[in-house]
Amino acid sequence: MDAARVRFARTLAKKTLREFGATAPPVPVEAVLRFYGLTLTREAHEGAWSGSLRGDRVVVNATHPQMRQRFTAAHELGHVRLGHLVMEGGCLALEPTAEPPKQITPAQAAEALFEDRMRVQEIEANEFAAELLAPRTWVKTLYRDLRDPDRMADVFQLSRQAVWIACLRAGCIKYRTRFRI
Ligand SMILES: [Zn+2]
Repeated sequence: MDAARVRFARTLAKKTLREFGATAPPVPVEAVLRFYGLTLTREAHEGAWSGSLRGDRVVVNATHPQMRQRFTAAHELGHVRLGHLVMEGGCLALEPTAEPPKQITPAQAAEALFEDRMRVQEIEANEFAAELLAPRTWVKTLYRDLRDPDRMADVFQLSRQAVWIACLRAGCIKYRTRFRI
């Protein structure tokens, strides 16, 4: 398996924000898609199916929570921007299907992050989506102000789990793990 182009995905996400002109959260992901000539469509699907690309349409699972749909849409844009031409049937759950528990521990966030790191294209698209919707510099600034990933989730319009992961990635929260984050 080729190594994932993680840094490339992040750089491309930052470039995408600059091109679009987003300077503060929440990133209007549907407008960003339109900027690149893509339209967002919602379809109800059962279970873990999160979304896919169909021509110039990004399809996301309407039964998933809004905040997760936003992440999925950004993830699909990542596939386009990263030049992933051969796509498999669809992108599976980026987060556990069950509602997250009331308290999310850094261990759970790290575990979830590790789960994402299975396939190169998925890794790259997730890296792109994470940096697009919660760029490290914004995460660090907001964490300095709020010190609370759960409240930050409202500002970023992302799931609490996604923001906990973003805080781990940005180094705001320290956690010793056997996985590389
Ligand atoms: Zn995918």
